[in-house]
Amino acid sequence: MDIITSLSEIRERTLELRGAQQTIALVPTMGYLHEGHLSLLRIAREKADVVILSIFVNPIQFGANEDFHHYPRDLERDLSLAEKEKVDIVFTPSAEDLYPKGFDTIISVPHLSNHLCGLSRPDFLQGVATIITILFHLTSPHIAIFGEKDYQQLLVIRQLVKDLQFQTTIIGAPIFREPDGLAMSSRNAYLTPTERTVAPFLYQTLQTIQEMSQKGIHTVSVLNEKARSFLSQEPSIQLEYLEFMDAKTLAPLTKIRPPAFIAIAAKLGKTRLIDNLIIS
Ligand code: AMP
Repeated sequence: MDIITSLSEIRERTLELRGAQQTIALVPTMGYLHEGHLSLLRIAREKADVVILSIFVNPIQFGANEDFHHYPRDLERDLSLAEKEKVDIVFTPSAEDLYPKGFDTIISVPHLSNHLCGLSRPDFLQGVATIITILFHLTSPHIAIFGEKDYQQLLVIRQLVKDLQFQTTIIGAPIFREPDGLAMSSRNAYLTPTERTVAPFLYQTLQTIQEMSQKGIHTVSVLNEKARSFLSQEPSIQLEYLEFMDAKTLAPLTKIRPPAFIAIAAKLGKTRLIDNLIIS
């Protein structure tokens, strides 16, 4: 497994690989790998000749009061996990190289960003769109794998690829969960033991909605009220949003109509958690 930090080296290497007719899969991450990330690497390993894992805690996708400086990092552990997953190249660029003095470009996908996380975290999705554009230019991937855990991000990237004519196929991977249902996330490391026991409530809320919808309750106002009253059993959960949307366009729904996307974001203490469920 090669570890590359230099932008010119990764560009030359991936162009060489393309010249040798090798297919390239990119899995972009911010590191502190967990099973969710590894599930993406396994899809990549199955689908391409060469797997590139990028690890970069992208400063421009964090707001001023967010956790950029505290974001968990453990490169040594990540490298050993990557090696076990038979990753070929780990690309770990520096912020100084990616965003040199004078850097002044932002990629924005405004329509899809004007919902959910985009409202409370205005820098987040354009920061993601910008770094993904740069990473795609540097690594020329045939395919790139993203988790449905960050579903709005996945839609933004699909739109970006379509609009900017990237020749990269985007693959969405299902949410990988802890045995008790909590969606895996690097930020779960922030949870106190008590918060950790409460955290699966988010997924349980989504499951409650799904069960009601399977029983024929499709009116969003009814589902919303039931879900909120379910959540209120746990006063330590501060709900940020619970939205019912069309899974393709993110248009709000008044009645569940597949494919529907139910998204939840909440704070538990200082930790912000997101989760979602698709009714197809
Ligand atoms: P991050 O390091 O949090 O930026 O995530 C890197 C990639 O892993 C993104 O495409 C995420 O959507 C994906 N990912 C994060 N958590 C999970 C999970 N629990 N299941 C599947 N994919 C995930």
